[in-house]
Amino acid sequence: MLYKSKRGEDKRISSAEAIAFGLSNDGGLFVPESFPCLTAEMINKLISEPYERRAAYIMSLFLKDFTIEELDLYSDNAYGKRKSQGFCDGKTAPLHKVDKGTYFLELWHGPTCAFKDMALQIMPQLLTASLKKIGETREACILVATSGDTGKAALEGFVDVPGVKIMVFYPRDGVSDIQKLQMTSQSGENVNVVAVEGNFDDAQAGVKSIFSNESLRLKLTEAGCFLSSANSINWGRLVPQLAYYISSYCDLLKNGEIEQGEKINFCVPTGNFGNILAAYYAEKIGLPINKLICASNRNDVLTQFINTGVYDKNRQFYTTASPSMDILVSSNLERLLYELSDKDGSMVASYMSRLSTEGSYTVSDSVRAELGRIFASGFCSEEDTMRTISDTFSKHKYLIDPHTAVAYKVLKDYKETTGDDAKTVAVSTASPFKFCDSVLAALGQPHEGTGVMMLDTMSKITGCAVPAPLADLKNKESRFNDTVAINDMEKAVTDFLLERFGH
Ligand SMILES: *Cc1c(COP(=O)(O)O)cnc(C)c1O
Repeated sequence: MLYKSKRGEDKRISSAEAIAFGLSNDGGLFVPESFPCLTAEMINKLISEPYERRAAYIMSLFLKDFTIEELDLYSDNAYGKRKSQGFCDGKTAPLHKVDKGTYFLELWHGPTCAFKDMALQIMPQLLTASLKKIGETREACILVATSGDTGKAALEGFVDVPGVKIMVFYPRDGVSDIQKLQMTSQSGENVNVVAVEGNFDDAQAGVKSIFSNESLRLKLTEAGCFLSSANSINWGRLVPQLAYYISSYCDLLKNGEIEQGEKINFCVPTGNFGNILAAYYAEKIGLPINKLICASNRNDVLTQFINTGVYDKNRQFYTTASPSMDILVSSNLERLLYELSDKDGSMVASYMSRLSTEGSYTVSDSVRAELGRIFASGFCSEEDTMRTISDTFSKHKYLIDPHTAVAYKVLKDYKETTGDDAKTVAVSTASPFKFCDSVLAALGQPHEGTGVMMLDTMSKITGCAVPAPLADLKNKESRFNDTVAINDMEKAVTDFLLERFGH
């Protein structure tokens, strides 16, 4: 299976090259040229397998330069029994049933307690193997812009990986106390963490412009290194994410909750459109899916887009209780548009250029019709996010984080307005303990002090245990305290790569 840039450059590349390069030289994202087929028979075979076997098998459908033995090994390292921290309670992507036909897919049992671990525990292994396979001898520098969770998950995934350095930029005022300490207390010699004076979109735009800086690229090549990305635009991030959608379907079958071939819905709290795009690809290869419900917070640019076909980022940016979804430019949407437009790369390029010049674009009628066939959408206000956390706890004794609450509220609204009663999996993307202040506020409890002190308070009040990796934070100190202006991000990168390491 080969990959190409969806902006229309004609060159075809292998899966290892797509993972190693991250972005194409023409600025486009890599997309598979064709899709494999997931049959009912394949799904049946996976039912009796543990998560790590299911994941390796599903990745093998897309990553043809890797043997199944290689993928099994990486998958064991990431999700299986070999892992010393995270996923160690034997749960990788468990389902939690709350009422008839609604299940939460908990994707936060990894080392950083958010769903980004699902991809970032395995992606570094795919990346280093890919670099070897393509004969790359330069050192890779992973640049990450994070809205809070990706940064820590990437740091955990890449820490002390030989031949790789990693630098993370986060919006100074846009992440929770716990998220911030998780990142700034990161151990390891090959890591760096910097706060940016701006929001996530600013940080992401800054990283993108560093990537497209030709003179910097030359300078780094001379110094023996090159830039790569662990953001969700990298194909190596997306493929592992298909696995949990398919795995949850296997579990529903295994538990007798659905019949073979029964179509289900997924409701996904969405920011950069990476998670829900993986669900779309799962549908594309044959997973029986009825609707994908895209849930937004107050930054409802995607809701508007799915309902009207108009993408318009010229709007107020809000900082919310679900910061990982505070995004106005969803990078992965490009890949969806490419598929929905029947692989019309030049049309997608024209949408993207209008987005960068005018801040908005309107898709064609046929793209809009395709969009409506598979996607539904809704958004959730801050008040409703809070109310949903407290209602869910009092009604179901189930504690959810603000991102998951956004999804659950949008799902309830969707069911009410459409009457669609297909069984639905709501994707639960973070442990509630990552967002203690919001969750305690939602439960009507005092929430003074720093996030770390609140972990115990929340555990006492709710009777839920603090996840081990977060409990550990109490003994950690911040190592990285630099803040830079957006215009100084490039200098921070060269300082880190060229001076500190004496290239
Ligand atoms: C990243 C993140 C999201 C959004 O996922 P996308 O792939 O960016 O759409 C939602 N919830 C949490 C907790 C996250 O960390």
